Amino acid sequence: MSVFTDYKKEIMDAAHNERIRIALSRAIKHYRANINNALKKFPHTIKMAEEVREIKVKAIGEMEQLVEQACEAIEANKGKAYIAKTADDALNIIGKLVGSGKLIVKAKSMTGAEIELREYLEKQDNDVYETDLGEFIIQKLESRPMHILAPAIHVPKEDVAQVFSKITGQKLPPDVGTLVATARKLLREKYFQADIGMSGANVVAADTGALFLIENEGNIRLATGVPPVHIALVGMEKLVPTFGDACKVAEVTWRYANYTIPQYISVVSGPSSTGDIEKVITYGAHGPIEFHVIFMDAGRTELAKHPILRQALYCLRCGGCLYECPVFGVTAGHFGDKYFAGIGAVWAAMMRDNKEKAAALAYTCLTCGRCKIRCPMKIDTPEMVVELRRLIAEGA
Ligand code: SF4
Repeated sequence: MSVFTDYKKEIMDAAHNERIRIALSRAIKHYRANINNALKKFPHTIKMAEEVREIKVKAIGEMEQLVEQACEAIEANKGKAYIAKTADDALNIIGKLVGSGKLIVKAKSMTGAEIELREYLEKQDNDVYETDLGEFIIQKLESRPMHILAPAIHVPKEDVAQVFSKITGQKLPPDVGTLVATARKLLREKYFQADIGMSGANVVAADTGALFLIENEGNIRLATGVPPVHIALVGMEKLVPTFGDACKVAEVTWRYANYTIPQYISVVSGPSSTGDIEKVITYGAHGPIEFHVIFMDAGRTELAKHPILRQALYCLRCGGCLYECPVFGVTAGHFGDKYFAGIGAVWAAMMRDNKEKAAALAYTCLTCGRCKIRCPMKIDTPEMVVELRRLIAEGA
């Protein structure tokens, strides 16, 4: 079967799947109430988003200089920094650092999903635990993420209860509190047994090499703070010039991700250190002894040259557009590849070189523009989709 036939079947099946619709309608209702509340409480975010768009537009034009600057800063902080030109380069660098037979606790990372990092590490004979609750559910269901922030958005609590009952051997009720407590119990000891913790980053300040990690669950803190080695994979579009810029990007990201304030914001810029004995700075204190950051290009610098499609690189991954998309609202991430909906078509074409999937997604998009209205970066996805259709039609 062709990619088109497979995709058509997948998306039609999803559109007729009652459970997906139930799970999504619940999630969309909660998202809208939360974001309206967050923006009402902190209305300055709307103005700040305009400022962040300017920061991103400029930063995308300077990505290559910023990545050099960030690498220097990370090395000065006694971390190790790498530039991966392609997805395969990134996997090779990480593969060499990790080796095989390791226990890895992993935070959610769209960039990791983009290059199928978990699957790669598992093939290298490593034991990888997704620690984000949604990703953990997906891993156990052997499914795939259906939203950039809420990967298990399509899974109702009844199905989570079923899979967790199977793992624990106990009949668990479809009660959210019980299910969260079960995941905590299943994962907690893994952080302390793990050889390596892995993460992405929401934004990186080039001047200091500081990675910002936004979360609520506390799994990222543990995964990046407890194991002796922290490896971070970061798309080059996450770089901004200064620490101050990164603070603004972070605030706009979490607010449009529907939070007034996230429970945790971690800033990581090197391995743990101490100067407590005679002011002699020593690396490898209570946290990681090694800190490695891989900055991945994989099509980003090429995409930055395109006057219309470069907008995809401004994306903060807040996920807001997906809740407004009428197609996503009934099909979840089945309307997507590694990234979802209309903007996902651009990522499929440019970063994953998956033109067939990109075409299928580009022609599913209704170009209605509801995503643009919600988007803090005012990314014109309909404009990008029309341009992508043109490029595909011309065989570019
Ligand atoms: S396109 Fe805009 S709304 Fe959608 S995830 Fe990116 S920043 Fe958020």
